[in-house]
Amino acid sequence: MTKKTFPLTKERLREIEKRFPTPFYLYDEGAIRKTARRFRAAFSILPAYKEHFAVKALPNPAILRILAGEGLGADCSSLAELVLAERAGLRGEDIMFTSNETPSAEFRKARELGAVINLDDITHIAFLQKAAGLPGLLSFRYNPGPLKAGNAIIGKPEEAKYGLTRPQILEGFKMIKEAGVKRFALHTMVASNELNINYHIETARILFTLAVEILEKTGARLEFVNLGGGLGIPYRPEDDAPDLEKMCAGIREQYDAIIVPAGLDPLGIRTEYGRPITGPAGWLVAKAIHRKDIYRRYIGLNACMADLMRPALYGAYHHITIPGKEGAPLQSPCDVVGSLCENNDKFAVQRELPAIDVGESDGDFVVIHDAGAHGRAMGFNYNGKLRCGELLLREDGDITQIRRPETLEDYFATLEGVWD
Ligand SMILES: *Cc1c(COP(=O)(O)O)cnc(C)c1O
Repeated sequence: MTKKTFPLTKERLREIEKRFPTPFYLYDEGAIRKTARRFRAAFSILPAYKEHFAVKALPNPAILRILAGEGLGADCSSLAELVLAERAGLRGEDIMFTSNETPSAEFRKARELGAVINLDDITHIAFLQKAAGLPGLLSFRYNPGPLKAGNAIIGKPEEAKYGLTRPQILEGFKMIKEAGVKRFALHTMVASNELNINYHIETARILFTLAVEILEKTGARLEFVNLGGGLGIPYRPEDDAPDLEKMCAGIREQYDAIIVPAGLDPLGIRTEYGRPITGPAGWLVAKAIHRKDIYRRYIGLNACMADLMRPALYGAYHHITIPGKEGAPLQSPCDVVGSLCENNDKFAVQRELPAIDVGESDGDFVVIHDAGAHGRAMGFNYNGKLRCGELLLREDGDITQIRRPETLEDYFATLEGVWD
């Protein structure tokens, strides 16, 4: 069970909306810092641990700076994400660059920053060499194929476009060693939103086993392995958060059984979690502006799937609460919907909620939980929808706007030669 909380009262929201009208994202700095510390503490039983926050989950430099202050690095997958990490003050090996189908300009930027480049294919060795030269440290992304089952969001590794096969990994390390690369690392990312800690322990076991094989067959001694992201969060109140300490103890057990006897200790451990770091510390706050009763009851919000598309994209569950009505009796089920001309624009389907007041000024606030990762970042402008802004709740209780809402001018800004 997970208690779903929201840090602001209805009265505080009424104050805030005078300056920052809904909808908006709210992130809780204190909660993000606390989570970052928990991860570092739990993984401290493993050598040279570093978490590289997956920038795509919440690409706002204000957040990256908070995380950098807690000793976290960044995991980037594109030029824009590299620039964001740079502007947040990160440099060098604090940045991991895990990309695919990468243009040469992005490899050049990653080299300029001194980021750890994680190659997605064996042909990318030559591509990177031509684009930017080979760095002293290189990592490969491993695709374990049939060794891993995958899950609903990410699919089966065997059908995934990412990474190198096992024979290619061995061949790849031989190739880069011959080309003069001196430091080596290995990465995989095979799960998404996976709550089962055994799945992640198994991922570590697969990487550790491969690290030993790489040493034996190529002579390349890995400096670290990166276990990727994909650790789940309890979106549903009936779910439990993964037991981090237990997971790390399980990874340590594999380490002691595989890495230590092979003489590979110390082998650094890195992760690139996004969702569990900021997901539960972010909420989409909207207002109920319409109610309609046809074959079902619909509560219409002033936000839509352009602000948060996970429910429409994955059928994902996001918990919803109504500030000020926490203990109120639940009504018969309704659908909570947005304004997009798409029938899957539903934040909740047949959900039992308290009686909801509607109206642009005195309607209820509707808080959509666990939106702090892969939330606003996935937004889009279909139907001419303008994406909402982002607010940060500081540790002293102040609210700072860290991204303003989009305007019509933003939306039209790229049109050229079409106005009279
Ligand atoms: C998306 C992604 C992550 C982050 O995943 P989370 O589920 O947010 O932890 C990390 N690494 C890679 C390569 C990714 O594609």
